[in-house]
Amino acid sequence: MIVMKFGGSSVESAAAIQRVCSIVRARVESRPVVVVSAMGKTTNRLLAMARLAAEGRREEALAECEALKRFHFAEALPPADPRERPALEQFLDDHFHELAELLRGLAILGELTPRSMDAVASYGERLSCVILAAALRSAGVAAEAIDSRRLIVTDRRFTQAAPLYDQTYSRLAREIPPLAERAVPVLGGFIAATEDGVTTTLGRGGSDFTAAIVGAALEAAEIQIWTDVDGMLTADPNLVEGARRVKTISFDEAAELAYFGARVLHPATVLPAIEKNIPVRILNSRRPEVAGTLIVAQAPPCRNPVKSIACKRGITVVDIHSTRMLMAHGFLHRIFAIFDECETAVDLLATSEVSVSLTIDNASRLDEICARLRRFAKVGVEYDQAIVCLVGDNIRYTPGIAARTFGALEGINVRMISQGASLRNLSFVVAGEDARRTVRALHDEFFREADPEVFE
Ligand code: ASP
Ligand code: MG
Repeated sequence: MIVMKFGGSSVESAAAIQRVCSIVRARVESRPVVVVSAMGKTTNRLLAMARLAAEGRREEALAECEALKRFHFAEALPPADPRERPALEQFLDDHFHELAELLRGLAILGELTPRSMDAVASYGERLSCVILAAALRSAGVAAEAIDSRRLIVTDRRFTQAAPLYDQTYSRLAREIPPLAERAVPVLGGFIAATEDGVTTTLGRGGSDFTAAIVGAALEAAEIQIWTDVDGMLTADPNLVEGARRVKTISFDEAAELAYFGARVLHPATVLPAIEKNIPVRILNSRRPEVAGTLIVAQAPPCRNPVKSIACKRGITVVDIHSTRMLMAHGFLHRIFAIFDECETAVDLLATSEVSVSLTIDNASRLDEICARLRRFAKVGVEYDQAIVCLVGDNIRYTPGIAARTFGALEGINVRMISQGASLRNLSFVVAGEDARRTVRALHDEFFREADPEVFE
């Protein structure tokens, strides 16, 4: 068995749904179980209308609900067999009617609890699994939708629920194999329910997590994450023309890259699969012939020390300097307490005895942070910086990586350097305007010769 997961962009239109059908049809021999996200941007739209309703903007919320219904009718019905369309139409009608009722309720209550957010957000995947199953049947693949809320059991942490693995695994192992005997099971990702059947969700982007849970429960041969990129690359192709595809990457390397490439896959979400040694493959639903990137617990040997160079722009560097704090303990604690209270995540960090430099991605509460820091330190801020990060399991075993890195950056000013505790990455900050030049120079240095076993 394999698990095939299709993200929102893979099912964003009738044409996209049809592409998915041919991809699945070409792989029925591998006995697929399909996990599908909500169509396109549906989840965002659902959450937006829930907020509108709760703010008392009832008519706007209902209008948005109506628009989402039209989108589903336009894109979801054509791929279905004409004989099945009336039933599907009825199904969509009923669900959008129910959703509108829910929105009216929220408008009356005037509040949006995490529990109601999940109730509203669940509609995307409740619809998409039924829609895709119908499209598959019309494409000649026996397929059956199954409501994930009957299979994935979670705790009650709405919007961020954690699976109760024992029950979930035993339900999946009991329900899916007999169903798979007669049809391709199609499950909505992201959605789940508590033991007593209250709808929950696994958190945004949770469909990958669903795929990993299903794959782990069924001990699948492979989990395929179908998305809209060719897999993980040696660098952002918008920055480097000769960026190559990485054929195999370790889970730990993929995790280091996640911060930059979260758009592809958040590796934490596939942990259940990795723990059971089930390979996870990233594939492109627009170019299914490309073999993608395989994520495995232990990567095969690679002659290159670096697997990929990530770059994140729009970073803010905060420099905190306090001579008064010389030798004093508790300095870092005070600093981090402020960032914590302002709910601002710190990414890179470099410290000396009297100063600390750190980077943040989200600068929306920076004014407040600086005001509080200035009570005991001098603070400098630099906007428009970029983090460049070299990732590779081999970095820790290869001497001279730092020399090669900084040697390649002749004439580029490096602001701050940080080598992660894992020794699997080397990160530093340059001015945003130098980012492209930096990544190109490093790509040239580290991938001039690329191990053909690992890079395409
Ligand atoms: N539809 C959900 C979201 O947009 C889950 C997913 O796409 O993975 O967050
Ligand atoms: Mg999505």
